[in-house]
Amino acid sequence: MSEKKQPTRTCIACRKQNDKRNLVRIVKSETDIRLDFSGRMNGRGAYICNDIACVEKCIKSKALNRAFSCNVEAGVYDKLKEDFLAGNNQ
Ligand SMILES: [Zn+2]
Repeated sequence: MSEKKQPTRTCIACRKQNDKRNLVRIVKSETDIRLDFSGRMNGRGAYICNDIACVEKCIKSKALNRAFSCNVEAGVYDKLKEDFLAGNNQ
């Protein structure tokens, strides 16, 4: 039985490995941190499950601070959630 291997990444919130296509990329550029639904933005990337539960978890545990080794302001997390919800309504 041949199994096609999908690239996987670890979600920064639940720390589980997931198929890349089930994850949303988060990019840290020099100026801000934002969701990258295209997966093609420049910058340092982290991945989170395409699941609001993981977004909530990420906010609660301040997972971005860990992922990007910096102090991420609360407003960034709020915006992330907003964008996540908006992106999933498209
Ligand atoms: Zn997750």
